[in-house]
Amino acid sequence: MKLYYINHKTTNPNGNNEVHSEDCRYLPSPENRTFLGCFSNGIEAKKAAKDNGFSKADGCIHCCSEAHTE
Ligand SMILES: [Zn+2]
Repeated sequence: MKLYYINHKTTNPNGNNEVHSEDCRYLPSPENRTFLGCFSNGIEAKKAAKDNGFSKADGCIHCCSEAHTE
């Protein structure tokens, strides 16, 4: 299980909010991220993000490649 966060300030062209695990080198700084919870993989974290209103959540290609779709 790992802790997951979502970047609530998106900068990428298609406007997705990327989901990152705690150990990702691209983890956003504390003021730019929202804590999602503790999950066993990025797919669960992404689902939790969508349940929390981040309809454009997408997994980071580096740490959540299993949940990266766009
Ligand atoms: Zn990441």
